[in-house]
Amino acid sequence: MTSAVVVGGGPNGLAAAALLAKAGLQVTLLEAADEVGGGTRSYEALLPGLLHDHCSAVHPMAVASPALRSLELERYGLRWRLPEVDCAHPLDDGSAGVLLRSVEDTARMLGADGNRYRALMGAPVRDWDALAQDVMGPLLKVPAHPLLLARFGLPTVLPATLLARLFRTPQARALWAGIAAHAFRPLSRPLGSAVGLGILTAGHSAGWAVAEGGSQAIARSMEKVLTEHGGEVRTGVRVTHASQLPPADVTLLDLDPGQVARIYGDRLPTRTRAAYQRFRRGPGAFKLDLAVEEGVPWRNPHARRAGTVHLGGPIAEIARAEKDVTAGRMPERPFVLVGQQYLADPSRSVADVHPVWAYAHVPHGYDGDATEAILGQLERFAPGARERIVGLRTTRPADFATANPNFAGGDILTGAETIPRLILGARPALNPYSTGLAGVFLCSAATPPGPGAHGMCGAGAATSALRHLGIRGSACTG
Ligand SMILES: Cc1cc2nc3c(=O)[nH]c(=O)nc-3n(C[C@H](O)[C@H](O)[C@H](O)COP(=O)(O)OP(=O)(O)OC[C@H]3O[C@@H](n4cnc5c(N)ncnc54)[C@H](O)[C@@H]3O)c2cc1C
Repeated sequence: MTSAVVVGGGPNGLAAAALLAKAGLQVTLLEAADEVGGGTRSYEALLPGLLHDHCSAVHPMAVASPALRSLELERYGLRWRLPEVDCAHPLDDGSAGVLLRSVEDTARMLGADGNRYRALMGAPVRDWDALAQDVMGPLLKVPAHPLLLARFGLPTVLPATLLARLFRTPQARALWAGIAAHAFRPLSRPLGSAVGLGILTAGHSAGWAVAEGGSQAIARSMEKVLTEHGGEVRTGVRVTHASQLPPADVTLLDLDPGQVARIYGDRLPTRTRAAYQRFRRGPGAFKLDLAVEEGVPWRNPHARRAGTVHLGGPIAEIARAEKDVTAGRMPERPFVLVGQQYLADPSRSVADVHPVWAYAHVPHGYDGDATEAILGQLERFAPGARERIVGLRTTRPADFATANPNFAGGDILTGAETIPRLILGARPALNPYSTGLAGVFLCSAATPPGPGAHGMCGAGAATSALRHLGIRGSACTG
């Protein structure tokens, strides 16, 4: 029987392993931690029964992912839950930019900017199912829908600060800036709109969904597909040298490129090894898990119903903070993302104590304490929030890296979103999943389409592995 080894059980490793097992390969997955999931795990961080997500929380790209859809994860227990308000971006005057599931409803909320928002988002959202085939994979290929891709692609090349000029109101500008800031890069750089427009388009199509029972449910459902198709999962196995790997026809690595360079050493072609060693890492994350009695008392009423709340004030302030963290300076008021997953999934709360997830963008490897800066941003838009906090746990950049070497320096995107990375992945090559070693493929978020718990990097690598074995077609279509 043809065999595959997958190293790393994050959402991409799991998707690759499950798709290859479904295609009939004998798959063994090796995971360093004592459970699979990587960035899609959950835990009772503060109180028994109070469920926090370690990392990924909100999943527009996962619901819209052809890989996850093809695995039919609902049959294996995954349930998506949607908040009433997808995302709110409060401002100091008590108003907010508000993102709702539909383009129409969002346009209505944006008032004077409604028509412009409709003009920007209407067509890509309508065409998402077709667009996803081109956008959620390598960009260097013959597109399935060139005209749709060209229309979608035009505004993505703009710096986010330039695209923001489309809008007149501070609410629309701030809402856009917060979404564009998910890319962890200065908003004034070219291609600065790509990540934000991708998230908005997928979000309007699929919703900013959370997984019932925590993001761990995404990993567990994929693990079930894998084992149901004969796959084996070995946890507690940290691979540090290629000699540890069992023999297999194909090997897929859910690892950051730096680890791959260390694990394979001079067995890798010189150019691959050099590119992986040079692979740039991005800024870090500093996270707080909070237990909040009766929830956060947001001044803005839409924020009280929002699954995600972006804290950073007006666009100029977010642009400054993102520029600072990229340059290695800790801003006084960092950009903070707050997750209130319990609003869509009340099973995560314990009576009137609710789990709140919040992280700030900080410089790569930041070794200071950002707790006060995050709480300051919370209090700024929700006076009295501090008094409701009954439990708090911090995860610093170094803690992320210790738990998962793919997040070195707290870089939770597995690499800086530079222009070469956005277009090519970890190295310039026609096949971004190829390591240059026959039968060995990179499948982590360092490859296209990049970070997120969508499994599409794993699917792309699985398709390449099948092709190497002489099996044509996409791993997602079986
Ligand atoms: C705080 C935070 C918030 C986030 N928010 C979101 C969000 O809301 N939505 C979203 O879609 N994404 C979010 N992300 C990003 C998302 O979690 C990642 O992009 C995604 O997990 C990457 O998946 P992956 O499979 O490539 O790698 P990972 O999830 O990093 O998994 C890699 C796995 O490999 C294992 N491993 C590493 N090295 C070795 C080794 N040498 N040997 C064996 N095993 C190894 C690790 O233990 C891990 O299990 C967030 C991440 C963080 C940390």
